[in-house]
Amino acid sequence: MTRDDFVSRYAFVYEHSPWVAERAWDGGIGVGEDPAPVFRRVVERAGADAQRTLLRAHPDLAGRLGTALTAHSSAEQAGAGLDRCTQAEFAEFQALNTRYVAQFGFPFIIAVKGLDRTGILKAFRERVDGTADGEFRVALDEVHKIAGFRLAALAAPPAVTRTAVPIDTVRKMAFDALSRAGANEANAAAIADNIAAAERDGSESHGLFRLPGYVKGLELGSLNGAADPARLAGPDAALLVDGDGGAAPLAYARFLPQLADLASEKGAAVLALRNAVHFAAMWPEVEALAERGLAAFAATANYPYLAPHGGRRALLGTNPIAFAFPRPAAPPLVFDFASAAMARGDVMIAARDGRPVPFGVGVDKDGVPTTDPAAILGGGAQLAFGAHKGSALALMVELLAAGLVGDVFSDEAGAREAASGGLPRGGVFVLALSPERLGGPDALGRADAFLARLAAEPGVRLPGARRHARRARAEPAMVEAVLLRTVRGLAGH
Ligand code: NDP
Repeated sequence: MTRDDFVSRYAFVYEHSPWVAERAWDGGIGVGEDPAPVFRRVVERAGADAQRTLLRAHPDLAGRLGTALTAHSSAEQAGAGLDRCTQAEFAEFQALNTRYVAQFGFPFIIAVKGLDRTGILKAFRERVDGTADGEFRVALDEVHKIAGFRLAALAAPPAVTRTAVPIDTVRKMAFDALSRAGANEANAAAIADNIAAAERDGSESHGLFRLPGYVKGLELGSLNGAADPARLAGPDAALLVDGDGGAAPLAYARFLPQLADLASEKGAAVLALRNAVHFAAMWPEVEALAERGLAAFAATANYPYLAPHGGRRALLGTNPIAFAFPRPAAPPLVFDFASAAMARGDVMIAARDGRPVPFGVGVDKDGVPTTDPAAILGGGAQLAFGAHKGSALALMVELLAAGLVGDVFSDEAGAREAASGGLPRGGVFVLALSPERLGGPDALGRADAFLARLAAEPGVRLPGARRHARRARAEPAMVEAVLLRTVRGLAGH
């Protein structure tokens, strides 16, 4: 296992305690070795003082354990009615907690299994009257328990069979499938190019995986296969475009060159695309603008899949945000990700492959955190990355791509989801900016030197670099067996 593999596989351990993970790495964790005993050994051998420091250094960990224990303990916690404490009970909780922290140096941790509110208070009182060592042992056991749950969630996924498919064949299969489902040449070509580009760059969740969805949309009539996107009257520095119910890639193919010309001429320009189906990755549009020397930002809203921070009900879209910046002698800097902790396509792929998703990706229908992708997709809600921060970005996207562009918000689009076969029809916001017109002739060079300094930093890689490296290797797509059968069937190959 390389160090990078180790860090990415055990990122959740780093999140809580880089100290534990680093010592496990120093101690040499073997390929295929069960990491649970290794992590446990690291903690056990650290000695009580180091262990106590560890817990003190991570009060958030202690705080989180209460809710992250397991789905069932969270449900029990809710069921225990902690949220319905009387004022007197709440005051006692607070007083006990203050004493507890003063006494033991870290916040209260409790397993609530089988206890009601009164039982929890009783247990809490007993703990405050306990000894520091005994209490610490309880806390540490809880930490081990959490690590166990999380490691179990990482158990080897079932093997997935894949077949190498040349990118030209990917494009041909996509084009034929879309044509057979009724798309005209321009529409089928724009979507097929987009799918092929995603597979070429290893963006599996937006490659052939999306094809059956496009085909279903064409069959249901929710995707217009004969769309003829057209510019509407609007302000000079904006291209206000009606996508005619077609897939966004066709509108881009048609209007991005004009957007780029406008931005190069004026310094800044906006594409406000309405009535389009954005079912794709967002990097192609910003990358295409960066390849024309422009900085670009793009965002779109979709369906109510994401619970706003603090809420349970899915009201926001998974709302991707993409940004690109041109580099004179290198592929542009590009990043593109969902506001959701995990893109919905990846949650769907995890459900398909029978793999759990990490904690923090979503909640089930009762609002309880879960690692089961099926529970998240089946009536639950996804969560934003970065808690309130990602949630605010998703909100910003709603306001730009729906409010400002003049199309539906995700919660409004939700009502149409069943009828559309899941294809979101709505607005897309794209901003193009000319670094040279705005920052002067050396703007690009200075930015490039800055990016080069970042890229030279050990452990740092620029966003987009993985995709561009994969593109340079010109590898075939590795298509999962069941999907390949489906796609071949749709394409008549
Ligand atoms: P990820 O969380 O995988 O993040 C991907 C971005 O982060 C890429 O730009 C990637 O660059 C960059 N990145 C990843 N790791 C690193 C690293 N270690 N250092 C620097 N940069 C890094 O994306 P999501 O899963 O959230 O989204 C996947 C796709 O889903 C996106 O293309 C998005 O547009 C799409 N999507 C589309 C929606 C729609 O409505 N149409 C809705 C939601 C998502 P690189 O590519 O080089 O790895």
